[in-house]
Amino acid sequence: MVEIEAAHDVLILGSGLAGLRAAVEAARVSNDELDIAIISRVQLMRSHSVCAEGGTAAVMRPEEGDSLELHAWDTVRGSDFLADQDVVKLFVEESPKELIQLDHWGIPWSRRPDGRMNQRPFGGHSFDRATFAEDKTGFFEMHTLYDTLQKYAGVTRYDECYVTSILIDNGVFQGLTVWNLTTGQFFLIRGKALVIATGGACRMFGFTTYSLTATGDGAAMAYRAGIPLKDMEFVQFHPTGLIPSGILITEGARGEGGYLINNKDERFMERYAPSKMETAPRDIVSRSEMTEILEGRGFSRPDGLDYLHLDLRHLGAQKINERLPLIREVTIKFAFIDPLEQPIPIRPAAHYFMGGIHTDIEGATPVEAIWAAGEAACVSLHGANRLGANSTAECLVWGRITGEKATRYAMGQKSLPDVPPQRVQEEEKRLFEQIGHGNGSEDVYVIRAELQRMMDHNVAVYRNGPDMEEALKKIRELKQRIKHVKVKDQSRIYNTNLLAIVEVINLLDLAEVIVAGGLARTESRGAHSRRDFPNRDDDNWGKHTLAYYTPEGPRLDYIPATITMWQPVERKY
Ligand SMILES: Cc1cc2nc3c(=O)[nH]c(=O)nc-3n(C[C@H](O)[C@H](O)[C@H](O)COP(=O)(O)OP(=O)(O)OC[C@H]3O[C@@H](n4cnc5c(N)ncnc54)[C@H](O)[C@@H]3O)c2cc1C
Repeated sequence: MVEIEAAHDVLILGSGLAGLRAAVEAARVSNDELDIAIISRVQLMRSHSVCAEGGTAAVMRPEEGDSLELHAWDTVRGSDFLADQDVVKLFVEESPKELIQLDHWGIPWSRRPDGRMNQRPFGGHSFDRATFAEDKTGFFEMHTLYDTLQKYAGVTRYDECYVTSILIDNGVFQGLTVWNLTTGQFFLIRGKALVIATGGACRMFGFTTYSLTATGDGAAMAYRAGIPLKDMEFVQFHPTGLIPSGILITEGARGEGGYLINNKDERFMERYAPSKMETAPRDIVSRSEMTEILEGRGFSRPDGLDYLHLDLRHLGAQKINERLPLIREVTIKFAFIDPLEQPIPIRPAAHYFMGGIHTDIEGATPVEAIWAAGEAACVSLHGANRLGANSTAECLVWGRITGEKATRYAMGQKSLPDVPPQRVQEEEKRLFEQIGHGNGSEDVYVIRAELQRMMDHNVAVYRNGPDMEEALKKIRELKQRIKHVKVKDQSRIYNTNLLAIVEVINLLDLAEVIVAGGLARTESRGAHSRRDFPNRDDDNWGKHTLAYYTPEGPRLDYIPATITMWQPVERKY
């Protein structure tokens, strides 16, 4: 049971792939001598990572032609030359070790007839290197980490505990304020070190592949606490969100040979990426789809969710049932179509944040004793566009690195920080009185819907200056309006009404950073594609955006991208 005030040596905020991997490493490194806590707003295994479908990228078959250099080149080219190349090098070297480690911990990888791990093609990779477990890769990876965690005694779980702020004093981490959603208690957890692994924020969009809990809380809290966010303008749109829900149809479906078809029955990718076709990188495929739709070669729907077809029929029942059973099940249940018999209706859906909390190559943030890993972080692996299957691998690699770094740091600290009680009381008052007693005329669900509709329309696959100006205006209007919401539920237990308000406050802060960064970046690169500035501009924009919180809005600054191996060249597939 949760105490009113708690303290642990290492705090892991988030129990997705990055958080669980960090926790296992922290427990292993400290050999059960340190006290470790995992705090998660959902039950531990309900993190979005269980939804990862298609695979995890790593070089596992050098003898068949793959190489670390090739994986690095694919990642750098995919990033439109904004990835930090020293980070990419570390990543490709470490990810095979992580997959073998998972194998030793017992993950049921899909295998080839000779018993070796199987790998499938994925977008932008020039070798079949997405290692997979059916089309439920994240689910099996999460279970394997969870099982492994059971070996360690020194780990305390705070499930369904929602963190509302990160406390920092004099540039050093102190603790977290936590709302236990199941009991209503509000309390402080002090810690010597923190790993933030809170995932992405795609729920600021309406049409998205993400879980309802992907509201960017960790990034927003870090930002308000003074940690800069990096490269937030780069939001990935996945080419195949299922109509009308947005549920993901894995890139593995195209990796296994699925076709994208327009209303003229053409495999239109021939026009845009003749050598890679359907397995070109996601930014390119999503733009191609939007061009088809905008030029009238899509299928229209009254709700405006115009779409294209993903055709799997030629793959045959055996392959679909063996390799893509989830895709078949989801399509039958949510689109009432059997992909054995009919093509699947899809369109680009908001899917991933390349940006996040600014860290160095070891996952350290600029604040002492705070690390960040996984989708919440921006270690600058993906640059302006992430390759499919590189994210789960990133979570494992930097989960391990940050878990170890944070633990070693905590081992060197004699005492826990002191936190003055009034800091916790102030936060409790902000949450339950200032926000929680709101009695204005605004409705948070209306504000959320307006934000999502606007982001879907103004800050999507194609962008331009006037649309983003309008977006910024709208975000600032919504930030004012949310101060006047009416809170209908006054309880502290499972108060999803109050929770929705806190989430939307977070989403609005992050949306503002995305749009401000996007407006400033007068070029097109990776997922940031501007009609009014259609070319990449390496001389002026081969650099990362940093956004610092100020009450008036983000202050932007820039740092160079690290180029060690390859100078930028034209990106063609
Ligand atoms: C449908 C889908 C399929 C995907 N398929 C693939 C794939 O095949 N290959 C690939 O590489 N990538 C894939 N991705 C991307 C990848 O899965 C994610 O980027 C990755 O799993 C994110 O992991 P994470 O650990 O960073 O965060 P998450 O798994 O999102 O976990 C976030 C954690 O933070 C906690 N948290 C957040 N806010 C708070 C708060 N305020 N208080 C307390 N706890 C909080 C949550 O409870 C949760 O435990 C896919 C993504 C989706 C949505």
